[in-house]
Amino acid sequence: MKKVIKDVVCRSWLKNPTKNLVEKDGKTFYFCSPRCKSKFEKDPDKYINLKG
Ligand SMILES: [Zn+2]
Repeated sequence: MKKVIKDVVCRSWLKNPTKNLVEKDGKTFYFCSPRCKSKFEKDPDKYINLKG
């Protein structure tokens, strides 16, 4: 089953899960690049709160 995933850092849509992922609060967040991943790790709440 394919799922559309949003990179919450750069706000782009990913067609497939990538290896750039972070697990937080029981959710898995995927990122288009290691750069987005490290930005998220530095300040996850900032990006999570941007959702919606
Ligand atoms: Zn990104």
